[in-house]
Amino acid sequence: MITIKDKQFEIFISHQQIADKVAALATRLNADYQDKNPVLIVILNGAFIFAADLVRQLTFNHEIQFAKFSSYQGMETTGEVKELIGLSIDIKDRDVIIVEDIVDTGITMSEVLPTLQAKGAKTVEIAVLLMKPGKLRVPLNVKYCAMEIPNEFIVGYGLDYDGLGRNHKDIYVVKSEE
Ligand code: 5GP
Ligand code: MG
Repeated sequence: MITIKDKQFEIFISHQQIADKVAALATRLNADYQDKNPVLIVILNGAFIFAADLVRQLTFNHEIQFAKFSSYQGMETTGEVKELIGLSIDIKDRDVIIVEDIVDTGITMSEVLPTLQAKGAKTVEIAVLLMKPGKLRVPLNVKYCAMEIPNEFIVGYGLDYDGLGRNHKDIYVVKSEE
């Protein structure tokens, strides 16, 4: 068990289980992108560890870019997200793979997707470490998902609670308050 600020977390997915799932996802990407040269857009901050483990198992040519988008405010979808860190290469006519840590309501990805399509990408797919299918509120096509989890708040392996906990090798789930 670990404590971060006011909350206690217990282990939920071990680093070995994560490694197996990331390897399986890499195998799928290797099959689908063998003869392509996609741009991987890693969404900061949360996806940095997932991306580091994933790309070291990819066998096709690819470029890596990092991007950061402002999170949505409240529950309203504006259809537009602000780029806090933008792309430094042209993605026109390129195959793009968005590398994201977790899809929860799906609102963030559903806003990032059209932003990239508007830049003229040939294809845009989402590769995500974790998904909470029970919380999805918008239609979103996530082609590559390493693991599905229930509607719980998790930390570790790049994911934070209030800025902390990204360093943990395993994924932890918040302990329900008794
Ligand atoms: P969405 O727009 O899909 O609701 O939210 C996606 C973002 O919310 C993720 O990129 C992540 O930053 C954050 N998020 C959603 N669920 C969790 C969670 O269980 N733990 C952590 N640490 N962040 C989460
Ligand atoms: Mg994120």
